[in-house]
Amino acid sequence: MDQCPCAYPDCPSTGRYTSAGSYTRSLICYSDEKIENHTICVKRLECSSCGHTHALLPSVVIPYSPFSFHFVISLLYDYITHKHGTVMSLCLHYDISVSTLYRIRRRFLDDKKLMLGIMEDAITSANAFLCGFLSCRVQEADQRLMAYFQAVGTSFLQGRCTLRLKRNPINPVPDPATSLGNGRSDAGVLSSFQEVIYHG
Ligand SMILES: [Zn+2]
Repeated sequence: MDQCPCAYPDCPSTGRYTSAGSYTRSLICYSDEKIENHTICVKRLECSSCGHTHALLPSVVIPYSPFSFHFVISLLYDYITHKHGTVMSLCLHYDISVSTLYRIRRRFLDDKKLMLGIMEDAITSANAFLCGFLSCRVQEADQRLMAYFQAVGTSFLQGRCTLRLKRNPINPVPDPATSLGNGRSDAGVLSSFQEVIYHG
């Protein structure tokens, strides 16, 4: 954390944190085509410069969302491929409302465009994009999510977002030498937490 800049807007501080306790939160995951309810412990840090506290979340946990990243990606993939036949069947399988599905879908389409840029977004189908996440190594997905966060300033698929100031191009460089599991399972993701500072 010595090199990690404070995530609060306009705070120039880097690496000056003190422990601010922790809290537990629930996380709805999706592994082996089943919904799993987990409780995770989230550490908090206080910036010594501006006094704001930040939650240390793994990059694959979507801030403010009860659903894990892979829950959402699997949901969207199943929606696009009509895996469960009807929207109602899909929502029953994932135990969500139809309005939640469409809210997630809107957020995904917006953020996909931000991640890829307008030109590439236009030629990359949602199916291919989601397939890329579902089939890639956990750490490769993590790198892409980190690159998105650093360029955009919020997490991929994060709701309640009012600030979208930085829109730099994203060029993640996947490292095939570092690999763990695949993107379809939350198990690998939950065991490979990489700490990233978000507002919390
Ligand atoms: Zn600060």
